[in-house]
Amino acid sequence: MNDVYHCLQCDKSITKGVSDFSKEVYGVSLCIRHQILIHESTATQEAKALFLALKINKVPAILEYSDGIKTIDIAIPGKLYIEVDGRHHHHDADQALTDLLRTFHAWNKDKIPTIRIPNSLVNDPYLFKKAVSCLTEMCMELQNF
Ligand SMILES: [Zn+2]
Repeated sequence: MNDVYHCLQCDKSITKGVSDFSKEVYGVSLCIRHQILIHESTATQEAKALFLALKINKVPAILEYSDGIKTIDIAIPGKLYIEVDGRHHHHDADQALTDLLRTFHAWNKDKIPTIRIPNSLVNDPYLFKKAVSCLTEMCMELQNF
């Protein structure tokens, strides 16, 4: 039975071997093409980690999405943009999570909100888990519009 494994990104059937390898390296089941895309992506390790965590939660996220003007680290096209960066050193991880929740509540559907996630948040296992579940919940809500 080789057809029960699917790429999380494109839904293509993949073999158990490819799926096992992908899960070991990326934590999710991806076809070879998508493994290469992630491997060769210029996104930061933090952006990739957040992207994969969202994919595990079945969020239809795209890594390095271009809106025609700029490239967004992670996007739910037409719904939500997520920028992962280490430039805001003054911005601590706890504060970032609070901001994330605030963005969620102040969200209005006329404008695509951009959420900024500092690397420090991705690198803190506890806060990262909280941020991923918060973003997942946010994305689920956005699907309803
Ligand atoms: Zn694929």
